[in-house]
Amino acid sequence: MAITPDETHDAKRKSWVTSSNGHADFPIQNLPLGIFSTVNNWGDTPRGGVAIGDEVFDLKAACEAKLFSGDAEKAVRAASNTTLNDLMAMGTGPRAALRKQLSALLAEGTAESRKAQPLAAKLLHKTSNCNLHLPAKIGAFTDFFAGITHAENGGKRRGANPPLSSNYKYVPVAYHSRASTVRPTGVDVRRPNGQRVVDGDKLPTFGPCLKMDFELEFGIWIGNGNAWGDSIPTGTAANHVFGYCMLNDWSARDIQRWESQPLGPFLSKNLGTTISPWIVTPEALAPFQIAQPLRPEGDPRPLPYLWDDTDQREGQLDLELEVLIHTETMRAKGLPPQRIAVSNTKHLYWTVAQMVAHHTCGGCSLEPGDIFGSGTISGPTPENYGSIAELSFDGTRDIPLNSGETRRWVNDGDDIYLRARGKRAGCVPIGFGDCCARMVAGKAP
Ligand code: MN
Repeated sequence: MAITPDETHDAKRKSWVTSSNGHADFPIQNLPLGIFSTVNNWGDTPRGGVAIGDEVFDLKAACEAKLFSGDAEKAVRAASNTTLNDLMAMGTGPRAALRKQLSALLAEGTAESRKAQPLAAKLLHKTSNCNLHLPAKIGAFTDFFAGITHAENGGKRRGANPPLSSNYKYVPVAYHSRASTVRPTGVDVRRPNGQRVVDGDKLPTFGPCLKMDFELEFGIWIGNGNAWGDSIPTGTAANHVFGYCMLNDWSARDIQRWESQPLGPFLSKNLGTTISPWIVTPEALAPFQIAQPLRPEGDPRPLPYLWDDTDQREGQLDLELEVLIHTETMRAKGLPPQRIAVSNTKHLYWTVAQMVAHHTCGGCSLEPGDIFGSGTISGPTPENYGSIAELSFDGTRDIPLNSGETRRWVNDGDDIYLRARGKRAGCVPIGFGDCCARMVAGKAP
């Protein structure tokens, strides 16, 4: 069910937390949830917080100060833990109630903020003084393949004819990936060693990945789950989504090519996954809901269990996506990160509700804190390609950089940033914050 925009989305609403007014990512209209602790504060434990401008509002302290009531009070009590799993398990009601009360508390000139601002102002921490942790204990990570252009480009690289497998327009294709190696923004990712067939060789050798790639993906956090044996219909799947992040599914393409015959991917995908640590809620994204774009003429209609009229009418999101690279040389020269791709969530062939429904149609249980990757979101033209394998045409063409360097794959020392932003006339734009990690040299094989 679509979420109707309300006073929390009002473009005229400003916050007394002045750094949030006009903030690119975290104005008061966003209010994403995460887990933080303060730096240099011995014994400080991770707990729930909300990003507002350049600051983090402490939900545990707000709970202790009794700033919330009703369902919102239940939500902040659950958010006082070291992960958000308990809050995720509560479903949509408490989360939405928390948003309403938070917005009123942090807004300028409301009855709530006039009363509580002096106390609430003491519960803010500068984000620059905080560690941002994984927001949940991740039980399972599933990676979808819902970017149809990325799927087609992959088929072309493999020489498949036709490039798209015959199941693609029927099945929201996915595989079970690895939860233990998901890390928040800012954590270096190490180049893996593995088996791969080096160009020109016939047999595999063991050594460092020579074809390191990123994947521009949208992350989906599962809220309340389903019992084993039950399935979640497409029409109610949105109630099981707690929120969204950006997700870089680092991919060792040479290892992947060799190991994925016929199963996989395996080691090529479990070396590390970088996510943006703030969870942007479905309520915050209400203004950016759109219809699922019509399938091209001749494509099959999804099977009935994947079809829901409301989901088709409003189940997709319109978010602008970007990939930027910041190499060691760029940093040394004082150059800013360079954008190398732009895309949009509307290029996904399946909606999030269809992914949830498909995942559970055979009775698989989802649990609070499970995470999905959407699959690499490439768009129709080369500037929309969401992986370096696509941008460099499988390592055969140089990608020129403004530092005078070129890239065909990701080098050691390269920082890769993913960004997402919702923009719509009459609305305050919101963003997802940083999803960035540096690829660093691997260990000796
Ligand atoms: Mn992926």
